[in-house]
Amino acid sequence: MAINTEVRDGRPSCQVNGFCMQGCKIGAKWSTMYTEIPKAEATGNVEVRPQSMVLRIEHDKTGKVTGVLYADKDGNQQLQKARVVAVAGNSIESPRMLLNSASSMFPDGLANSSGQVGQNYMTHTTGGVYAEFEKPVHMYKSTVVPGIVHEWKDNDPGRGHMAGYELEILHLGLPFMSAFLNPGKSGWGRELADSLANYDKMAGFWICGEDMPVESNNVTLHPTEKDQYGLPVPVVYKTDHINDTRMRNHAYDRSTELFESIGATKVNYLPPYPASHNMGTNRMSEKARDGVVNKWGQSHDIRNLFVSDGSQFTTSGTENPTLTIVALAIRQADYIADQMSRREI
Ligand code: SF4
Repeated sequence: MAINTEVRDGRPSCQVNGFCMQGCKIGAKWSTMYTEIPKAEATGNVEVRPQSMVLRIEHDKTGKVTGVLYADKDGNQQLQKARVVAVAGNSIESPRMLLNSASSMFPDGLANSSGQVGQNYMTHTTGGVYAEFEKPVHMYKSTVVPGIVHEWKDNDPGRGHMAGYELEILHLGLPFMSAFLNPGKSGWGRELADSLANYDKMAGFWICGEDMPVESNNVTLHPTEKDQYGLPVPVVYKTDHINDTRMRNHAYDRSTELFESIGATKVNYLPPYPASHNMGTNRMSEKARDGVVNKWGQSHDIRNLFVSDGSQFTTSGTENPTLTIVALAIRQADYIADQMSRREI
């Protein structure tokens, strides 16, 4: 969870006041925005240029990348030279940037000799189950995910689906709850109002299941629509696999049994959110023909071009992805430093 249980790193311990999805008011919860980035800036080796947009990654005639052309906050085009370029726009903007950097040498986009840039877009197989109880349970009086049920996280095809899921106790705030709660058949009107009036008597799970990589779930460039910089906008295509539906239904049924066994008077389902954890689209592979980057996140095609975000994921796993993305980035940073000192890149 990366939340301080005691005073650490100049930040206080968690006060368990809840509603962390709005951001932590006291800074107990880790966030690069107020932890690593200010420290990195203080070294004098990092400069953040906010409200800038990369227009394309440039390369020389040998195919090595040489820097990025970007629009600064005033809309002026700037060329930033670079010995190494690390793309970190995650699963939608990173493939978009590589595809938008197509050139006569790389007509299908950078790092795309395999044709895998933009393919296998994954989120997680999700859904919500919120039970109402007779008496108040005050779910919001805690961190946002105070517990996890791991019972069904392993692969067991006997359940009727492949891969696994976990149930995360998730404390939603009222605005989120009112947007997604879907009681009864209508999901609207009196029944919704009654359920929301029971907010302090509610507790629930968020389903976080492994979403299979499917090549037809992808990010491509729109053929005609452009953004304010004149760049083709991304088109994101994502649809459930039958495995997702089976897994979600299994999770709905087990959650309902669990809540009814402890006295729930009513169980509501929340539909899957349209996007949750974006993963895949520049996947890691051992062989260049199967993916975009190697185990260090280094592109198979261009040695000094790296992908440093969740688009490297080959599968989505059954866990929230942030800490894995961070671990991969730290490992990659060590690799880049080593390769630069040896003048390999
Ligand atoms: S409960 Fe959440 S928002 Fe409140 S102090 Fe703890 S981490 Fe921060």
